[in-house]
Order: sequence, then structure tokens, then C-alpha cells
Amino acid sequence: MRSVRVRFAPSPTGFLHVGGARTALYNYLFARSQGGTFVLRIEDTDAERSNEASVQAILNGLRWLGLTWNEGPGVGGEHGPYFQAQRHALYLRYAERLVAQGCAYPCFCSPQELEARREQQLARGEDPRYDRRCRTLSPEQRAARAISGPRPALRFALPEEFQEVAWDDVVRGRVAFRSDVLDDFVLLRADGLPTYNFACVVDDVEMRISHVIRGDDHISNTPRQILIYEALAASPPIFAHASMILGPDGKRLSKRHGATSVEAFGDQGIIPEGMVNFLALLGWALDGQTEIFTLAELETVFVLERVNPNPAVFDTQKLEWVNAQHLKRLDEADRVGRVMAFLSSRGHRLAGRGPEWCTAFVRALGDRVRTLADALDVGAFVLEDPPPMDSEAWAELLARPAAAERLQALAACVRETREWSLEALEAGTRSLANELGVKAGEVIAPARVALTGRKAAPGIFEVMWLLGSDIVVTRLEAAAARWRAESPLAARV
Ligand code: GLU
Repeated sequence: MRSVRVRFAPSPTGFLHVGGARTALYNYLFARSQGGTFVLRIEDTDAERSNEASVQAILNGLRWLGLTWNEGPGVGGEHGPYFQAQRHALYLRYAERLVAQGCAYPCFCSPQELEARREQQLARGEDPRYDRRCRTLSPEQRAARAISGPRPALRFALPEEFQEVAWDDVVRGRVAFRSDVLDDFVLLRADGLPTYNFACVVDDVEMRISHVIRGDDHISNTPRQILIYEALAASPPIFAHASMILGPDGKRLSKRHGATSVEAFGDQGIIPEGMVNFLALLGWALDGQTEIFTLAELETVFVLERVNPNPAVFDTQKLEWVNAQHLKRLDEADRVGRVMAFLSSRGHRLAGRGPEWCTAFVRALGDRVRTLADALDVGAFVLEDPPPMDSEAWAELLARPAAAERLQALAACVRETREWSLEALEAGTRSLANELGVKAGEVIAPARVALTGRKAAPGIFEVMWLLGSDIVVTRLEAAAARWRAESPLAARV
């Protein structure tokens, strides 16, 4: 048994999107579950499309999710990642070896020539593929062309005889390709840079990668890669191609669905614990029942064989539900800290109100907060002064007889409350209702609308306590005055 060594090999051409993050997670979990090694390799040989900002975005995304890689040339506490752009000499060495073995040959055809022949093939109704023109050049012809012409590309010489290229995919079972659907593909471009398939195999060989876990968009690359392994007399890794991820409309998930970087989900109030759990469930299940896992739990229960070959659907409702479960599981100090940090990132700095107030605030928000961003809405009665008034709630208040009088009376009662506690506020409100000869609800319901602008909100005494006497009195009196001005029930004089 080879020891388990897996890699996540993103091209730095954008941020860490949902599909990439899931691939990284499955690799990480498989490594952890097997006591193996998780390698991070940045595939940046395409200098035009790669950029440093994307490298940082990918690293930040992985760090945000908590997926630590454990190997590479780094210094200090964090190792790696490997960068393909720094491994050029290695690819050239392997290329020379393939040339020496007769498994690769220089191709002098210019892009224009290749394009013209491609068009001719298409016009004849043939599948376009390289016609192997340069494969049969003699050593003298090659030497002559090398002197006179532009630098050649290097092509892989497919085996002459037809063969079936097949592998047992952990996710999808046996997959087979006919070698005659392939052509002599490019290993090194004319500028000397390796193609993805070549650099990928060289690195997977050099890094002793045991399992390649990646998205199914790479299935058509796998037969080419297997042929390169064979030419190098190296045994291929075990392949596992995870299914694609679909948006709610059944189309492949893309930016159109608003699914951008994993960190953008953080900006929308998803916590890393929720995101990791949700990503794990995009095409994997433990037993069809248990759905909530921390990363540490996943590390022990993840089984690669249980990755589902059918497309996974990205369901935002599910993401929010999973996130809510993780918010509930956090210990209170942690949850308070995260809500406060999120609100602060949106310009609401509440920390100055002290830990007791912050804790009471987050407690009052309760289960209504499925994502941290929900705190902006559920907590609007504190975050906005005055909070927006719901028109339906206000219409109902206008239709309540004697609402202004009750609000006014409650304002007076609050102003006189000496001990600012939930108990005192509740006792005061109830004895006021008694004095007025009405049920407590007749005072509380209009007060809720006056204080929060809504019919449904956290507990009224919590709301009062959090707002403090001055704001409570101001809002109650303002609502009373507005009722007198607008309600058809108001006595006109
Ligand atoms: N650089 C490739 C990608 O980002 C890696 C594919 C692989 O894992 O082999 O899709």
C-alpha cells in the first residue's frame, strides 16, 4: 500500500469558487481520514492567465475554510504551496527523457498551418486532430528545421497500436477511452512552457501522489495523463472524479448564480463551519441521515467511496439551514463575537456597549439569525434609529382603539422605571395594563410596533432593555403622536 498523498492543484486565474473549494475539501478530508498528506500546488504555468492576486485569493479561501496543507517549500510556520512556475527545469528534464525514448517529438507546424488543416478536416466532416506530419521527420530534417524555423513545440507520440485507456474511478467505476479518439497532443509549447497535462503528470509523479481527486471536467484529460504515466513507466494514481455542481436551474454552477468566491459567502454571513459542512454535502453523504458535521468530525467519517457520481445541486436554503445549525452549536461567547465582528464589518460598532449588552442582544436575536447577515435585519431595531416602519404593522396600529393613550402611558411608566432590568420592565408594563383595565397584550402589541417597526420581533422586554430608557420613551411618544395625527379613531378637536 502506498501512503496516501493527495493534492489540490488550482490554477490561479480567479478566486476559490465553490467547485474548487469542494475539491480542496475532499482532498483534505481524504488525507486526514487516512493519515495522509495534503499538498497544495499552484498550477501557474500559464503566465498570461495566472496572477498573484488569484494566488492570494485561493490561499485566503483555504485558510478561511480551515483547510491547512502540510507540505511544500515554505519557510516559517506555514509550508508551501508548490508553484509550477518554479519547477520549469523539472518539466524540461522529463521532456528530454520522453524524446530520448521516442515517446515525444518536436513539431514545427505553425499555428496558422495547424488552423488551416483543422478547417480542412472539419470541411471534410472529420474530427480535427493533428495529422502527425512532424512525427515522421528524419533526424536530419529535424536538425535542418531547428536551425531555420521558429522554436518547435513538443508533442506526445501516442502508441502506434490502438488501445483502450481505462481506469477504475473511485466515484464512477470503470471509465474507458479509445486511444484513437486522441491525437499527438502537445507537452511543451513553442515557448517552452509545459501544458497542463504534462506538468500535472510530472508533478504527480515527483510528488508521489497516490490519489487524484478532482472535478469531472477533467475526465477527458485522464486518458492522456495515463498514457504519459505509461511512457514514463510510472504507475498512475487512483482517480476519483467528483460530479459537477448544478445551480438551482439545473445548469452548471457559475457566476450567473451569484456563487462567487467562498469568502464572498463569508461576506454574506455564512460562517466557515457552515460552509465546510455544506460543501461536504455537495455530492457526499455519510448515511443519508446525519447532516451536521464539524471539520474535525468530517476528518474522521469521510469516506471517498461515498462520493456520489450524480450531479449535486447548490441549494442556498440548505446552506442557510446548515449554517444556522452551526451558529447554534457555537458557544455563546464565540457566537457573540462573530455577530459583533460581522456587524462591525458593516459599519455598526456596538462593542462599546459592553459584553453584557452584546450578549443580551445576540440572545434576543435568537434563532431568527440563520446567517450573520440576518442580524442586520432582525437587529434593525437597535442598528437603525428609528428602524424602518412596516406599513402593514403601522396600519394595524392605527386601527387599535386608544393606542396613543396606551403608548403614552407606557412611556411615562418607563421614564419612571428606576431599576433597568427585564423583571422591572415586565412588572411595570403588566401593572400598567391592570390600571388601564386591558390585557397586557393590548399594551405590548402597539409597543412592539412603536419600538421595532414590526409585528414580529424579539421579546418586548428584551427590546426595551437593549434600547435603553431614552430611546424607548422617544419611540413610544413619537408613535403616539403619529397615531393621533393619522388614526381615524383619534378624537379630533
Ligand atoms: N489546474 C487544474 C485545475 O485547476 C488542476 C486539475 C487537476 O486537479 O488535475 O482545474
